[in-house]
Amino acid sequence: MIHLKLSNIKIPVAEARNIKNLVCKQFRIRTEDLDGFRIVRQSVDARKKNNVLYNYQVEVSVPDGYRGLLNGPDATECVAAQEFTYPKWHHDRRPVVVGFGPAGMFAALCLARCGAHPVIIERGERIEERQQSVQRFLQTKVLNPDSNVQFGEGGAGTFSDGKLNTNVNSEYNQFILNEFYRHGAPEEVTYQQNPHVGTDYLSKVVKNIRTEIESLGGEFHFNTLFDAFEKEGEALRIHCNNDKTFVTHHLLLGLGHSARDTIRMLHARGVLMEPKGFSIGVRMEHLQRDINRMQYGQAASLLPPASYKGVVHLKDRGVYTFCMCPGGTVMASASEKGTIVTNGMSEHKRDKANANSALLVSVTPEDFLQGSVLDGIDYQEKYEQLAFRMAGDGRAPGNLVGEFLKGQIATRHRKVVPSYPHGIHYGDFKRCLPEYAVHALREALPLLDRKLPGIANVDTVLTGVETRSSSPVRILRDEARISSVPGIYPIGEGAGYAGGIMSAAIDGLKTAISLM
Ligand SMILES: Cc1cc2nc3c(=O)[nH]c(=O)nc-3n(C[C@H](O)[C@H](O)[C@H](O)COP(=O)(O)OP(=O)(O)OC[C@H]3O[C@@H](n4cnc5c(N)ncnc54)[C@H](O)[C@@H]3O)c2cc1C
Repeated sequence: MIHLKLSNIKIPVAEARNIKNLVCKQFRIRTEDLDGFRIVRQSVDARKKNNVLYNYQVEVSVPDGYRGLLNGPDATECVAAQEFTYPKWHHDRRPVVVGFGPAGMFAALCLARCGAHPVIIERGERIEERQQSVQRFLQTKVLNPDSNVQFGEGGAGTFSDGKLNTNVNSEYNQFILNEFYRHGAPEEVTYQQNPHVGTDYLSKVVKNIRTEIESLGGEFHFNTLFDAFEKEGEALRIHCNNDKTFVTHHLLLGLGHSARDTIRMLHARGVLMEPKGFSIGVRMEHLQRDINRMQYGQAASLLPPASYKGVVHLKDRGVYTFCMCPGGTVMASASEKGTIVTNGMSEHKRDKANANSALLVSVTPEDFLQGSVLDGIDYQEKYEQLAFRMAGDGRAPGNLVGEFLKGQIATRHRKVVPSYPHGIHYGDFKRCLPEYAVHALREALPLLDRKLPGIANVDTVLTGVETRSSSPVRILRDEARISSVPGIYPIGEGAGYAGGIMSAAIDGLKTAISLM
């Protein structure tokens, strides 16, 4: 038997179901000789709208008689993937991981597999209760400040589209994707060009990862807020809001970009950090069918809901689309009372009527620094509070692109029905966004429409405000990933070393491995 990787397999989208036979035909393999078959990579080539193709890479096991295929350009012999061997934890004390978002989750999973019996502290609820708190907020506007779309088991990304694409080219990318699959995500996340899990599967994955960590001796403390620490000899004593304390030499902080109280506490206790740029803007909504037609033309009905990405470089600012959610909804993502924060979510099927994406303007420290490294946090908070005060009842500020571009304010929606769960209050974004951001959005939309025809359609709904694209601070760490306080290891998005589920998971994993 020989194991081959076969590439450059282009299949019209209408025939994708027939991939095995088409691969056998293209490489003259008799179907009965095919012993193993696995898709390794799948991407969509929609450059020619009248001939949209799937591009595949597959692995097959066939009798040695097919070794001749190696003379061709599209076949290579597979090398069996090395199983990752987990080194043994050799430190006296157990590590403590604060935050069970992707960074904390993959750090704790790795530490548990190394026999470290990690202690995990999470301010929010375990996923089952957290889902109820989020539903309660979406239905009644009653927010649980410690268990919501940002906080709780699984972290910020749990109520999301669960896009698993990243610009980070790490040797751990495939490992993370395979772990999502191993813990319950659909297999296609291991081979799709732009994989996504969907919030319906994410909650299962999170629970299964927790179960594995517990089975390896890991210990979880939910509804437990890490709110102080002190040196104790060579170790650190961790204090929590429910009087629990833990002593460790390794405190991994996967706090996320919304743990403002904890960042302020760390700063006050001398943990060095620096201001970091982020982005601010709105979420825009279109009819998904219009986006499908824009991206795939007449092949749209044969393909899953389409996504898009676009950027415009203005004189002094970048304006770009971010975290696009096909067939999803705009999410009420606040974690503080009296604030409005938008983001996006969809389920695995992506079957809702609208497509949504953030449209963001770059913000640099020059825009918000007033003398404190924490000014970026205050800056985000200010606009979230202004957004809430516009209606004062939980409705989010909104407008339609047609009116927005003319400096007018719509009174009601047209063909696109806004999906923000608490409703829209049509108003002037100048009252809840920095003036430069409103100007940049107005200047960029027509330019973006040249690249993505229809993106600035007059009926497009704009909902604000999107402020948490990334953390406004970076907790300083050295090559050994140690902060200015020995024993503290800042990880993930909140620490300023990641942006998105994948890169946060990779940062947590690499930090855990570095402790061995
Ligand atoms: C609605 C939404 C949709 C998103 N969609 C996507 C997407 O499709 N794809 C993508 O790549 N990214 C997406 N993101 C971004 C992604 O979720 C984050 O980049 C990622 O979750 C960051 O991981 P993290 O582990 O660093 O932090 P987080 O996921 O934010 O986790 C931090 C955890 O720490 C806990 N915590 C904080 N402070 C304390 C404390 N003092 N004590 C105890 N626990 C504490 C929090 O409760 C939280 O659970 C989305 C985010 C949101 C909000």
